[in-house]
Amino acid sequence: MIIMKFGGSALQTAERIREMAAIVQKHLEQRPLLVLSAMGNTTENLIDAGQSALHQSVVFPRIEEFHRNIIAQLGLPPKLIDGLLSELNSLLRGISLIKELSSKTRDTLLSFGERMSVRIFSAYLNQLGIASSYFDGWDAGLITSSDHARAEILPESYDRIRESLSDIKGIVPVITGYIAKDRLGNITTLGRGGSDLTASIIGKALGVDEIQLWKDVYGILSADPRLIPEAAPLRQLSFAEAAELAYFGAKVLHPTSILPAMCAAIPVRVKNHRDPDHLGTLILAEPESRESGVVAITHKSHQVLVHITSTRMLGQSGFLARVFQIFADLKLSVDVIATSEVSISLTLSENQLSQLREKIEEIATIKIEDSKSIISLIGKVERSSELLEKIMRALNSERIDVQMISHGASKTNTSLIVNDAEMQRSLAILYQTFFHPRGQS
Ligand code: ASP
Ligand code: MG
Repeated sequence: MIIMKFGGSALQTAERIREMAAIVQKHLEQRPLLVLSAMGNTTENLIDAGQSALHQSVVFPRIEEFHRNIIAQLGLPPKLIDGLLSELNSLLRGISLIKELSSKTRDTLLSFGERMSVRIFSAYLNQLGIASSYFDGWDAGLITSSDHARAEILPESYDRIRESLSDIKGIVPVITGYIAKDRLGNITTLGRGGSDLTASIIGKALGVDEIQLWKDVYGILSADPRLIPEAAPLRQLSFAEAAELAYFGAKVLHPTSILPAMCAAIPVRVKNHRDPDHLGTLILAEPESRESGVVAITHKSHQVLVHITSTRMLGQSGFLARVFQIFADLKLSVDVIATSEVSISLTLSENQLSQLREKIEEIATIKIEDSKSIISLIGKVERSSELLEKIMRALNSERIDVQMISHGASKTNTSLIVNDAEMQRSLAILYQTFFHPRGQS
C-alpha cells in the first residue's frame, strides 16, 4: 500500500486532475490511498471570502465558479457539490450577520476546500472505472486537540484510522488532508500546508510502503535556487537531515510533517507532478548514496541574536533553568544557542521579541542584535574539525564575520550566524566550497 498526496497545485485545473488520475491509475498495483489538498488556491480564496463576509458582503463566486468549471470540464454530475456549496453560503451569511470570525469558525470555513476536492476527485476516478470512495478527515479516524488553526493529532487517531479504513480492499480511498475534528466534534485544521502531515499520519497508522508527496517542485534542493541557481534536487536524504532542512529554512516540507513517517520508518518521496517520471527526493532512515558530508545549505534571514547575562550570582544550572522557563512560558522557540557559565546567546525570529525583554530583565541583562541570518550546513559529519576548518577558511577568505556557531548537537546540522547583509555572499562561498571544491564543477 502507498499514500499519494496531491497538493493544491497538482489539482489546479481539470487538465491537472486528469493527469493526476492517470498517475494514480499507473500505481493501482501498489494499492494507493490518496490524500488531497484543496484544489488550486481554494484555501486562500476561502480566507478572503471569510474576510469579505466579515467586513463587506458575502461573495464567493470565485470558489463556486472554479469548482463548477472543473466539474463541467471533467464531465461529472453538475450537482456533485451543491450540498457543500449551499452549506458554505449559509456559513458565510452567518459570519456576515454576526460580524464574527473566530478561529473555530475559520477552521470550518477552510474545511470546505478539502471536502470539495475529495468529492470531485473520487467521482472522477469512479467515472474512469476505478472504484473509489471519499472520506472527510474525521470519517477516516483523525481526531485532534481543540487548538484551532494548529490542532495536534491525538494518539487515539492511529487505532481509529486503522478501524475506519479497514474496509478499503478493492477501492481507492480519497481522503481530505489538513482537516479533522476534535473530541467534541468541532472541525479543526492542522496548520497551513497540513495535508503532508495527514499523509504522514495515515501512512504511519496503516504501515504503508511509501508516502508520496506530489508537489510543484523537483524535491528538496541542495540550496535555495533563487540565491544559488545551480542548486539541484537531492536524490536521497535521511529523516534527520530532512527534518533539520525543513526547520532551518527549506520550504518544501513543514518540519513536523514527516515526524510520524519517521517514527514508523516509512520512506517519504517528494515528487514533481509536472514531471512524474523524475525520481524526486527520497527521504528514508538510511540513505544509500552519499555525494559528500554536506548535502544541503539553507538559510533563515531576519533573525535576532539575543545575549543574556546573569546579573545575580545564580549558579549556572539555576540561571539556565530560569531563562528557559521564561522561553517556555512565552512559547518562544530558540533555533541556535551557545552558553557559558553566566551568559547565553541564542537566536529567535524577529517577530518573537515583544514580552521577552521585560521578563528577562528581572534576572539578567539582555542585549538584542537584529538583522542576522542563520546559515545551516546539513549532512552527516564524520570529521568535525575538517568541516569547521573548511567553513571558517571559506568565510574568512571573504572577510565574513561569523558571530556564533553551533555544531555537534545534532551531528547533521552545523549552523552559523552572520549579518543579513552578508548572508548571500556567505551562502555563495560555502556552496562553492562544499559543492564545487577546488574549482571543479
Ligand atoms: N489546503 C491547505 C493549505 O493550503 C492544506 C494543504 O494544502 O496542505 O494550507
Ligand atoms: Mg493549498
